[in-house]
Amino acid sequence: MLNIVLFGPPGAGKGTQSQNLIEKFGLIHLSTGDILRGEIANGTPLGVEAKKLMDKGFLVPDEVVIGMIANKLDLNQDAKGFIFDGFPRTVAQAEALDQLLSSKNNAISGMVALEVNEEELEKRLLIRGKDSGRPDDQNPAIIKKRVQEYTTKTAQVANFYKAQNKFYAVGGIGSISEIFESIVNVVTQL
Ligand code: AMP
Repeated sequence: MLNIVLFGPPGAGKGTQSQNLIEKFGLIHLSTGDILRGEIANGTPLGVEAKKLMDKGFLVPDEVVIGMIANKLDLNQDAKGFIFDGFPRTVAQAEALDQLLSSKNNAISGMVALEVNEEELEKRLLIRGKDSGRPDDQNPAIIKKRVQEYTTKTAQVANFYKAQNKFYAVGGIGSISEIFESIVNVVTQL
């Protein structure tokens, strides 16, 4: 199985590059942000609770997203592999993911980290907010909070995969196709 963690701060291009990767490698895309927005759109109790945190730029609790991923792994037993997009976002989530995969005799193949500076991220997110209508992309204060959550809780997840020799950094500035080519160079070696 090919299991990729696509990593990077909000606005780094994870969603866009995930779409390219699932097409090229025939993988299943698991985005916890998309799953949560689906719960919100369906008005589920989980969605109602998650929205309160997401609209403020805070992470939702680990057990919520871990449960969602466990469920998706069970539902896709025959998959060739997965792209994890926006997950894991804490070390506890990364540990839980390792356990979930090893219980199925699987493992993460590698983390691909998209590197983009903060100024460029804010610019991209404000543009995305206009097109996507995502409330958390439209307010500079909330974007700042999300970047802060990334810096304090998520950035360390890179060290978790570095310690396993599974970390690969890719420059996230340039054209979508150039960046995709760099990602493919990494992924084909995994
Ligand atoms: P995203 O679409 O990945 O930018 O996620 C949007 C929002 O959903 C985040 O700002 C968090 O509030 C929440 N979220 C998504 N994935 C996770 C995760 N793995 N852990 C905690 N919160 C998450």
